[in-house]
Amino acid sequence: MSPPRPTVEVIGHRLDPAHYRVRDFLTRIAQPYDWYEAGSDEADRMLSGHGIAAGSLPVVIDGDDVITGATAADLARAWNVETEPTRTHYDIAIVGAGPAGLAAAVYAASDGLSTLLIEREVPGGQAAYTSLIENFFGFPDGIGGAELARRAGRQAERFGADLVLLRGVVGHDVAPDGRFRLDLGGELSVTATIVIATPGMEWRRLEVPGLEELLDRGVYYNAGRSEAAQCGGDGVVVVGAGNSAGQAVLNLAQAGARVRMVVRGDDLSKSMSAYLVDRIEANPLIEVQLGSQVVDVHADAGHLSGVTIADGRDDAERHDAQAMFVCIGADPRTGWAARAGVEADARGYILTGPDLLEAGRRPAAWRLERDPLTLETSVPGFFAAGDVRSGSTKRVAGAVGEGAMAVALAHRRLAELERLPTPSGGG
Ligand SMILES: Cc1cc2nc3c(=O)[nH]c(=O)nc-3n(C[C@H](O)[C@H](O)[C@H](O)COP(=O)(O)OP(=O)(O)OC[C@H]3O[C@@H](n4cnc5c(N)ncnc54)[C@H](O)[C@@H]3O)c2cc1C
Repeated sequence: MSPPRPTVEVIGHRLDPAHYRVRDFLTRIAQPYDWYEAGSDEADRMLSGHGIAAGSLPVVIDGDDVITGATAADLARAWNVETEPTRTHYDIAIVGAGPAGLAAAVYAASDGLSTLLIEREVPGGQAAYTSLIENFFGFPDGIGGAELARRAGRQAERFGADLVLLRGVVGHDVAPDGRFRLDLGGELSVTATIVIATPGMEWRRLEVPGLEELLDRGVYYNAGRSEAAQCGGDGVVVVGAGNSAGQAVLNLAQAGARVRMVVRGDDLSKSMSAYLVDRIEANPLIEVQLGSQVVDVHADAGHLSGVTIADGRDDAERHDAQAMFVCIGADPRTGWAARAGVEADARGYILTGPDLLEAGRRPAAWRLERDPLTLETSVPGFFAAGDVRSGSTKRVAGAVGEGAMAVALAHRRLAELERLPTPSGGG
C-alpha cells in the first residue's frame, strides 16, 4: 500500500449510494479527501475548470489525474492496488486483512515465509470503521482504525508479503500432499502450505420492513464513518448498545448531529465500556432511549426521512431522522471454511486447539498422532485467529496477538511437514 496521496478531491451527491460507496472506500483506506457537494458553486467551478460534464459524477481529482464516474475498483486500478497474486504457491495464505490477518502477514513475511494476504474489501476489517481506537496499547492519544491498518499493510509489504485486495476466497480444498488450494473466484486459484483464516465478522442485520431498500440511502450498517462526518445539524438515530454503537454516537455528536440512541436493554453499562457511557451521559446532543426498538422506517424521495420507535409501554412514536446507523453487533463470517469441513461451535465460531477435544478425544476426521495446536482448526495446517475464533477476545490487541501466534504455530506445522515422507503423486 502506498502512503496516502497528497490531495484528493471528490465531487458527488451526498445522498447517492454509489457516490457514498466511493467516499466510504476512501475513508476506509485512510485516504484523506475533500468533498464537494454537486450543485454547489465550488463544485461547478471545479467541474468546468477541468472540462468535466456534470453527468460524469462522482468525480475524483487526484492531483493532475481526473477519474470520472469513479468506483472503488477504478480507484484501486488507478492507484496500482494488487488484485491478483503474483505467485502460484505460497508458504502461508492469510484470508482476511483485519487486524489479525495484517499482524499474521507482518510476522510471516518478516520470518522470511512467502506470504499472501488476501482481502475481499480493503484492509482494516471492523477496525477500519472506527475513527479512534483509544485502548490499543502504545497509542495514548488513540489511532484511527483505518490508519492503523494502512500502516500495518505497508509494513507487511515492506517485508515482502503480497497484499491482494478487493478479492475474496470463496472456497478451498486440500490436495493429497496436504497443500491447500484456495479458490479466489473468476477461475483464479492459488496454493499454500499453510492457511490462516482471519475472516472476522459480518454485521448483524436489523429486521425492519423497508430497511434494506434504504441501505446507503440514509441507512448505514455500523458507524458509516464517511457519512457520519457529513451529519452536522441533522437529526440521526443510532441503533445498538455495544462499544461500536457508543463510538458512533459520540462521533456523530462531535460532528454536531442530534443523536437519538435506541437501546433494547435497560442499562447501557451492561454492554458498553464505562468511558463511553460517561461521555454519552454528559453530552447534551445525545438522547438515550432504553427498552426501545425501531419498528418502522419512512422515506421521502427514496431517502430515509424518519423512524418509528416503540418502547412496549406507550404508543409507538415517529421521529424525523436524516440518517440511521445500525450497530447491533456481528456474527462470525465462516461460510466458505465451514462448507469445507472446518468445525465450528453452535454460534458459528471456528473451534481451535483444545476446544476441539471432546473428553480428551480428537475430532473424528483428525488423522495426526498429536492434538491440534492451540490455534489450529479441525483441519491440520489450517489455523484460525481473531474474532472468528471461538473464545477470542473481540479486541484489536487480541486479534493482533492471535495473528502473530498463528504464525509461530505455523512454523511447527511446516517443520512437521518437512519431516513427513512426500506422498507419491503429490503435486
Ligand atoms: C465500530 C467498531 C469499533 C471498535 N472499536 C474497538 C476499539 O476501540 N478497541 C478494540 O480493541 N476493538 C474495537 N473493535 C473490535 C475490533 O475492531 C475487532 O475485534 C477486530 O477488528 C477483529 O479483527 P479480525 O482481524 O479478527 O477481524 P475483522 O476486523 O472482522 O477483519 C476480517 C477481514 O476479513 C475479510 N474477509 C472476510 N471473509 C473473507 C474472505 N472470504 N476472503 C477475503 N477476505 C475476507 C473482511 O472483509 C475483513 O476485512 C471495534 C469494532 C467495531 C465494529
